[in-house]
Amino acid sequence: MVVENLYRTKSGRTFPVEFSLRYIEHGGSAYITGVTRDMTERRRQRAQIDRLTRILRMQSGINSAVLRIQDRDELLQEACRLATDVGGYDRAVFSVVDASGKFAIPRFRAGHATDFPEPPQLPLPIGDDSGPDSNLSARALRTGQIAVNSDLTCADPPVAMREELVRLGYKAMAALPLIVEGRPVGALVLTARDADLLADTELLILLQDMMSSLSFALRSKENAETAQYLTYFDPLTGLAKRSLFLERLTGLLPGERGLSNEVTVIAIDIRGLNRINDTYGRHFGDIVLLRIADRLKSYARSDLHIGHFGGGSFALVEPPLITGDASLRSVLNANLFGEPFEIEGQACTCRAAMAWRTTPAMPPRPAPSCSRPRPPSSRPRSAGSNTCTTDWTCTVKWPRALALEHALSAAVAANEFELYYQPQLSMQTGRVEAVEALLRWNHPEEGVLAPGRFLAVLESTGLILSVGDWVLNRAVEDCERWFRMGLPPMRIAVNVSAVQVRQSSFVANVLRNFQRLKACTGFGLDLEITESMLLQDLEGTSRKLRELRAAGVRIALDDFGTGYSALGLLPKLPVDLLKIDKSFVGGLPDNAASVVLVDTVLRLASAFELITVVEGIETAAQLQAVRAMRCDMWQGYLHSKPMPASLLEQRLTTR
Ligand code: C2E
Ligand code: MG
Ligand code: MG
Repeated sequence: MVVENLYRTKSGRTFPVEFSLRYIEHGGSAYITGVTRDMTERRRQRAQIDRLTRILRMQSGINSAVLRIQDRDELLQEACRLATDVGGYDRAVFSVVDASGKFAIPRFRAGHATDFPEPPQLPLPIGDDSGPDSNLSARALRTGQIAVNSDLTCADPPVAMREELVRLGYKAMAALPLIVEGRPVGALVLTARDADLLADTELLILLQDMMSSLSFALRSKENAETAQYLTYFDPLTGLAKRSLFLERLTGLLPGERGLSNEVTVIAIDIRGLNRINDTYGRHFGDIVLLRIADRLKSYARSDLHIGHFGGGSFALVEPPLITGDASLRSVLNANLFGEPFEIEGQACTCRAAMAWRTTPAMPPRPAPSCSRPRPPSSRPRSAGSNTCTTDWTCTVKWPRALALEHALSAAVAANEFELYYQPQLSMQTGRVEAVEALLRWNHPEEGVLAPGRFLAVLESTGLILSVGDWVLNRAVEDCERWFRMGLPPMRIAVNVSAVQVRQSSFVANVLRNFQRLKACTGFGLDLEITESMLLQDLEGTSRKLRELRAAGVRIALDDFGTGYSALGLLPKLPVDLLKIDKSFVGGLPDNAASVVLVDTVLRLASAFELITVVEGIETAAQLQAVRAMRCDMWQGYLHSKPMPASLLEQRLTTR
């Protein structure tokens, strides 16, 4: 029989105990044995687990709200509700930073916050670094860090209406800043009568993580607004696209809205832009367009009278020049193209074709006049319209970035890439469970180059598609050889870029290669993707990854901790392994923050049944620290640097 009760010592101190009584028969006699156990620590642990569980449930509630709720205000209100109803906080208030950036206005509330007698819109001054903070939200918003007062009877850190709160029995308060795209946009203030709900570092890390989910959601919603912006404006120049330009033009035409003034619509087509892009790179062509847009902006009466329809087709509405077409041509030439453009230290000139029409010769609807001007020879001339071609010549040198682009294209053709391999070892047995394939470029002059030198250019040029295919094919080919050589079975981990995942043929490509591995019993394929890649298009990427997992490919989330670190989203993501980034390992074993962080992530990951891998272990002390933390696998220079396939084969055969 087991009974829990309170025990009181002679000094009057009470603590929880567990009595267990057992009936025993021995040597013809009957005995009752009793054991009394101090339950203080067990109760504390139970309460802590209970608190952690509640916060995790609250976090998961927020994650599902993020996916479900489109409206920003509704989402923030739901965050407050979850904090009180699920998280167990007594009051939750979300304050929004106003347009001036100087005040936080309480806008959303839940729990006892609705009963609290503070005026509903009392703005909280945020202040600046020059003076002391007047409230907890101000501190959180100013520093970008969680601000906690774990004992409200103390005046520091400052809490607005602190005495009132203490009188109502509140013990602790935390303000969690919401940072979107580096900008503080609001703070969630949680107040509790149970001070332990805000006292523990682990809980605070989870709360911070929850704010990251909210921040991510708001950023996505901002992105949706950006998408709408992109429908009407050219993202490069910020000028109106065709539909908006035509809409504005309609309003300027004589007869529309009672206007009677004549207007001239001028279309300008930059010639040879494709040639510039092909020769000097897309970014160079973009700068040319930007410079032309700048000149148009300084020439035109208003930015609202200019459009960029893409591909170097600009349009402009101006009052007609009374001096006629010849003057217009020379005015445009002088203002827009008289001086060469300075680009990357070079003087650059190019060619343009121009056409214009002046009302009233213009048809009532503007669309035909604003189409791309055709070459002068094929364009019929009519009253009030004109075209001309301005000749410019290009005199620029190749910028350095372009040289890299060209060298990489040549490297693809000359097959100058190679795969190096780095083992991933079981923490328990020390066995090589997998090897990660890492791309190297055998540069004819500079030697072996790591991806840090060229990966970004491979991605921006799209060359990563063919190189990525080559990587996957070579990795599987190497595996097949290792199988034939009788090397111990292992998995091969291949890194993939977002550009590859976005390709519609991605799943089919991977499965085709994976199919070949099936004949190699014991060998398997892991794909390493980064979190930001997954979150860029959560739905689309998840669908693809689920298809691959169903076929037996494992998915690893690489470099975890360097990006968004969606701990709360982890159970929902279609991943099997979590790779903790090497930047966290550098601080082990001495840096307390690194220890807490790696430990928390490892514990949560294993709670979500993910296989954990810690990357970048360089010292025995780091390995020791990670081993003590329940990690499944590790990888790092301590065992070996990435090496060519031939060396790996030697190492694994002589083992
Ligand atoms: P990653 O996938 O996180 O790979 C681990 C990186 O950490 C490798 O750098 C490896 O050499 C390095 N590393 C491993 N152990 C240690 C250590 O103990 N200390 C230190 N300081 N570094 C260590 P590497 O080979 O330069 O690759 C860099 C990144 O390039 C990779 O990071 C991966 O994101 C990307 N990458 C490599 N190969 C490919 C590829 O074939 N395709 C794509 N898309 N990306 C690739
Ligand atoms: Mg990797
Ligand atoms: Mg990594």
